[in-house]
Amino acid sequence: MSSGRPARPAKKGTAAKGAGAKGATAGAGAKGATAGAGAKGAEKSRKPPSTAKPDPLPIRSLEFLGPMATIDGWRPTHEMPEVAFAGRSNVGKSSLLNALVRRKAFARVSKTPGRTREINFFAVNGTFVLTDLPGYGYAKISKERQAEWRPLIEGYLRGSGNLRGIVLLLDIRRDPTDDDRQMLDMLADIGCPTLICVTKTDKLSKGATAGRVAALAKNLELDPEQIIAFSAVTGVGREELAEAVVALVSAVPFGSEPEVDG
Ligand code: GDP
Repeated sequence: MSSGRPARPAKKGTAAKGAGAKGATAGAGAKGATAGAGAKGAEKSRKPPSTAKPDPLPIRSLEFLGPMATIDGWRPTHEMPEVAFAGRSNVGKSSLLNALVRRKAFARVSKTPGRTREINFFAVNGTFVLTDLPGYGYAKISKERQAEWRPLIEGYLRGSGNLRGIVLLLDIRRDPTDDDRQMLDMLADIGCPTLICVTKTDKLSKGATAGRVAALAKNLELDPEQIIAFSAVTGVGREELAEAVVALVSAVPFGSEPEVDG
């Protein structure tokens, strides 16, 4: 039955609209409320209206909840929605997470010896949990050890009732690996909303980046709208990613939508 394709990834635009309609998360909602109040009193305001968009994901607090090291091992028991981040080693995940939460060394926890093969959980603003999945496919280890990533990641993805979606990172300059494809197939099988974030786009021109995004979309049978172009060096894509994460957080749990007959 399963086509084996990444059939049910989140559509970036659709997810964002959904979040807007629901008032988004507490974080975005609070910010929106402030902006609204400001707009009402605009006549009296001395400052010219700002053209800068409010941060879709202002960070007020970050808390490391702990690591999950084995399928049967510890995992958090909170009820907050979770958004996971995955990608092969060196794809730029730590740099992206640092940029997303605007902390220089946020993802250092996941890089400390002994932690790199664990799943690390962080509460953001006390409203949702960012799940940092271990980087897979590290080229310099044996094939057997390279394959070790799968049971833990799959166990987590299939077993977390709080998971709302995943952001899968791909290096803009590289073709997806077998591991990347396995990951996408697994996500399609689970029905997990998936966004693709292509990293290190500062290494290519705008035109070349657009060309690569189009090629990747075709290659992976995705809508180009589902792909966010990102660079930790220039900050490109941070707001778009933050918006998409906020949208995923406020989405209904996947698999819980009522079945539509006919
Ligand atoms: P991780 O292993 O996936 O966590 O990747 P890191 O964030 O540690 O990045 C791996 C390497 O890629 C490091 O040398 C980073 O400096 C580099 N890197 C990460 N993001 C970017 C980016 O957006 N642009 C460029 N040019 N290099 C990046």
